[in-house]
Amino acid sequence: MPCYIEHTKDGDTMFLCGDLGPHCAADKCAAVSGWLCDYPVGDGKTCDLPLCGSHAYEVAPNIHYCPGHLTLWSAFRDSGGVKRELENVVPFPHSTTSKS
Ligand SMILES: [Zn+2]
Ligand SMILES: [Zn+2]
Repeated sequence: MPCYIEHTKDGDTMFLCGDLGPHCAADKCAAVSGWLCDYPVGDGKTCDLPLCGSHAYEVAPNIHYCPGHLTLWSAFRDSGGVKRELENVVPFPHSTTSKS
């Protein structure tokens, strides 16, 4: 049975054991992952690294990036790329269930 290390807001650590899915993929983090990195990597795929609450960086509502991709994203945004991106690219939907 896998075990996880959760960090509380007080800076304490807490152990959890159970079948709670993959660990957070961030360096030296063993927390339960509740999110996947949504960074697009081409072919309609996303990075999909499992991330815990403190390593899933929300860059837009329901869009979370892993630490590595957050760095890329920040560089991209700071270079003024976001505006170009928004003008040219339709935001990638996560599911095909809501066709409009
Ligand atoms: Zn983490
Ligand atoms: Zn990522």
